[in-house]
Amino acid sequence: MQEGLLLIISGPAGVGKGSVCQALCRHNPNLYYSVSFTTRPPRPGERDGVNYLFVDEQKFMELRDGGSLLEWAKVHGNYYGTPAHLVAQMRKEGRDVILEIDTQGARQIRRKFEDGVFVFLLPPTMQDLLRRINKRGADTPEEIKRRFVAAYRELEEMEIYDYLVVNEKIEEAAFNIEAIIAAEKCRIGRYRDVLKQLLEEGDEFDLSLY
Ligand code: 5GP
Repeated sequence: MQEGLLLIISGPAGVGKGSVCQALCRHNPNLYYSVSFTTRPPRPGERDGVNYLFVDEQKFMELRDGGSLLEWAKVHGNYYGTPAHLVAQMRKEGRDVILEIDTQGARQIRRKFEDGVFVFLLPPTMQDLLRRINKRGADTPEEIKRRFVAAYRELEEMEIYDYLVVNEKIEEAAFNIEAIIAAEKCRIGRYRDVLKQLLEEGDEFDLSLY
């Protein structure tokens, strides 16, 4: 069985990463959305184990120091990290895995997995992004300003990604990422085992006779 893809999705706060990932998972039951650990307190409506695995700082450090995290980063004053074990298991079972992580985490994954597929989500305009950050309502004015400034910094990190997708409409952005997944699965490099098997089958014939 072919190992599942490792798909990394990043983008500034408010660009709609969560909505795009939800649409992707709705359309593709084979996709596994990796739920991260975080020390950030839950926002209204967020559920433990669904949006994040909410832990305190001591527990987070234990996980990090015990090697349980594939990558980790401090973002907007809180710690976030990807559980290593489940990602490896799901990929081995042939499921494609999505990591919705920041650019610091993406850099760590880039160093560890050369076959990762890196997608950066862009807003149609920065005005649009500011409107979306404001609309969330859950953050304080200082937090909103901090996230908007951070968004500009994140844009500078775009070159480490393989693909840029503009999120003007959620369904369109999800469709474009599905096209990326389909194309990535057809890369010759991912078919080494299949090619080897085809060539071995050829060995059963004496090709010089034909
Ligand atoms: P939020 O608190 O708004 O849900 O997320 C803040 C930022 O942390 C987002 O850019 C999100 O992609 C990032 N993030 C969420 N989970 C992880 C993770 O496991 N690792 C890293 N490096 N970033 C994460």
